[in-house]
Amino acid sequence: MSISQLAASIHESSTLALNEKARILRAKGEPVIHLGVGEPKNPAPIAALLSSAARLNTGEIKYTPTDGLPSLKKAIVRYMEENYNKAVAPENIIVSTGAKQSIYNTLFTIINPQDEVILLAPHWVSYPEMVKMVHGVPVVVTPEDGTFHPRMEDIERTVTSYTKAIIVNSPCNPSGAVFSDEFIAAIVDFCEKKGIYLILDDIYHKLVENGVRPAIAYDYTEKDLENSRLIVINGVSKLYGMTGFRIGWVVGPRKLVEAMAKIQSQITSNPSVISQAAAEGALQGVQSVVENLRLEIQNNRKVMIQELEAFNGVRLNRPQGTFYCLPDFRAYEKDSLKLSNFLLEKALVVTVPGVDFGMEGHLRLSYGGSVKDVTGGIERLKWALDPKAPNEIYIGDRKLVRDWL
Ligand code: PMP
Repeated sequence: MSISQLAASIHESSTLALNEKARILRAKGEPVIHLGVGEPKNPAPIAALLSSAARLNTGEIKYTPTDGLPSLKKAIVRYMEENYNKAVAPENIIVSTGAKQSIYNTLFTIINPQDEVILLAPHWVSYPEMVKMVHGVPVVVTPEDGTFHPRMEDIERTVTSYTKAIIVNSPCNPSGAVFSDEFIAAIVDFCEKKGIYLILDDIYHKLVENGVRPAIAYDYTEKDLENSRLIVINGVSKLYGMTGFRIGWVVGPRKLVEAMAKIQSQITSNPSVISQAAAEGALQGVQSVVENLRLEIQNNRKVMIQELEAFNGVRLNRPQGTFYCLPDFRAYEKDSLKLSNFLLEKALVVTVPGVDFGMEGHLRLSYGGSVKDVTGGIERLKWALDPKAPNEIYIGDRKLVRDWL
């Protein structure tokens, strides 16, 4: 069977692959603890469910305009006003099948073959693959000081005449870092001056620690939206716990949005009308659902930080947002894929290898599940790795004895 060179060069999403591995183990009755989850566990807001059910009841389940239902776009215009203090027109918005497609559409629209896209390690797993899928070249900038905060001087040094875009994801998946206002101000200024697109993946922007407010890129440009290089990505997956509905959107200059609509019209035509109705319901419903989720995650984050800070040898840059963190496990094992597989096999805990995020020797741990998952999961990791931890543990109803340290 022959497949294209491009298809052969694309890696499977490692988080989805791990989910599948965990699902199979669970189906066999194994008591797996999933610290790899990429979604909050809360159910979708009632307002979203009622709105999509109302649409279903009409029986009018047809195509919508390619760029999204006008009523949903109106709700996004309001979202932009309320959360970004930014007036945008419906023509600046295109709704897609998840923020994933929004990012892909964006890259498809701006990248020529061999154009470079700068990614800031640790970065979301899908960015490099998506860049390759549009024949671009991912260029990864890694902070050398051991923090998860990118430095402008490293970025400036990496920019070439081929640099077309930089992707910034703050709060960041996988590290949970929230970048400083100074950094956002500097990178916005740099990109606007150089004519480099700045793609701001804001998908976690409200899931932050008390008192933390991720910088709003628009605050640092004088340019109007039509002449600006800023492209903002958002969606309902994370903030509203609506990953299964698959709705995300792009806010950007009209010309880009029009081009994205052409691309989308040839691929999916439009996102499902049922999901668009759900997203509209979520945006128009009570917003305390987002705050409740933020508080729940904040509590989980506190527990995760406590557990990891009491873990011999593990180094943690404290997360300030998202429901992930990226502790350094190099004291135990430098090869994160090997470590992740070992932990799944021995301790039945799913973790995601840092190598996929451009940060070898680290593991991404999620606290999007329950506090019990966090405490139970870390207890198992300690048992598997730390010689000072008790060498017996109960996993499910089995007593296991560590015999490899
Ligand atoms: N960006 C980042 C940083 C993400 O973590 C994710 C989901 N894991 C997405 C985009 C895609 O979200 P969606 O479910 O809306 O496609």
